[in-house]
Amino acid sequence: MSLDWEAATAAVRDVVRPDARVLLVCHVNPDGDALGSMLGFGQGLRQLGVEQLQCTFPGPFAVPDPLRMPAMDLLVPEEQAYAEPDLLVTFDAASTGRLGSLVDRLHTAKVSLVLDHHASNTGFGKLRLVDPGAAATAVVAARLLERLGVVFDKEIAECLYVALVTDTGSFKFDLTTPEVHQLAARLVETGISVGEISRRVFDTRPFGAVRLFGEVLGRASLDPAAVRGLGLVTAVATLDDLQRHDQPAYVLEALIDSVRCTAEADVACLLKQVTPDEWAVSLRSKGGADVSEVAVALGGGGHRLAAGFTGRGTAEEVISAVRMILG
Ligand code: 5GP
Ligand code: MN
Repeated sequence: MSLDWEAATAAVRDVVRPDARVLLVCHVNPDGDALGSMLGFGQGLRQLGVEQLQCTFPGPFAVPDPLRMPAMDLLVPEEQAYAEPDLLVTFDAASTGRLGSLVDRLHTAKVSLVLDHHASNTGFGKLRLVDPGAAATAVVAARLLERLGVVFDKEIAECLYVALVTDTGSFKFDLTTPEVHQLAARLVETGISVGEISRRVFDTRPFGAVRLFGEVLGRASLDPAAVRGLGLVTAVATLDDLQRHDQPAYVLEALIDSVRCTAEADVACLLKQVTPDEWAVSLRSKGGADVSEVAVALGGGGHRLAAGFTGRGTAEEVISAVRMILG
């Protein structure tokens, strides 16, 4: 754990001036916490009076429909990001690899500040607010905003709320502490529409995706003897599945939640094909196994109960690599 609160607050205060350039970056293929903590923080900096402000992320420059939120006007493609910002802040990135080509800003920025909550965080950046006890990076971002005297408005609140509900699984996961609910209360007090946000983020998907989920789940495989008898459930979604149902890849982000329900398995593993021999792998545990260890061993990262990595080879090869490590 690394928490430089005084230094981080001072570093942000220092860039509240018209000539300072501030660059906010979240991880590649951003999820709700990455985008929401970054955009909520950006909206807060705007309230403080930061004028030269950009938000960006590496890789394909697309925000999935369920994650559209206020302050998206701050987003610029990575090619347009300030080359030498006065302050760089990274969000939800556990390792420099997650910053893609923007990793060089860690060296070109005058000051870099890392906001994160992954236990697997590798410890990059000059200043760090990395709290593995925080349910979301948004919790860390909210603490810093409040230290800076930012008053949550509806725009900030909606961004932070999206981040909080996605990373806590709608307040269901283990790190859903009293602080999380207290923060949620302050966000909801601004007048944001909780029902509307939940419907958009979790409960809306095209009919093609509903059928696609059915097919992938129909092929899922259960091995109750794996993971020292705790059980492993695996599912594989291919590019062909996406094409047949005419669906974009992001619809698969919600699929792991159906796979991990399996009572007979402590660990759930979902392979999402990215190119013919490359897979985005999601791992979930109910507590019997530490899936972040598996993900880190295979070049990825995450948390004890939720982690991921990029797998290479055939689906069978990737699954057998996971099984080897899980035991
Ligand atoms: P998800 O399965 O929802 O994509 O990710 C679960 C957790 O694992 C998140 O905390 C996410 O940041 C992390 N994660 C997923 N994929 C990767 C990866 O390829 N590399 C790293 N370092 N972390 C990942
Ligand atoms: Mn997160």
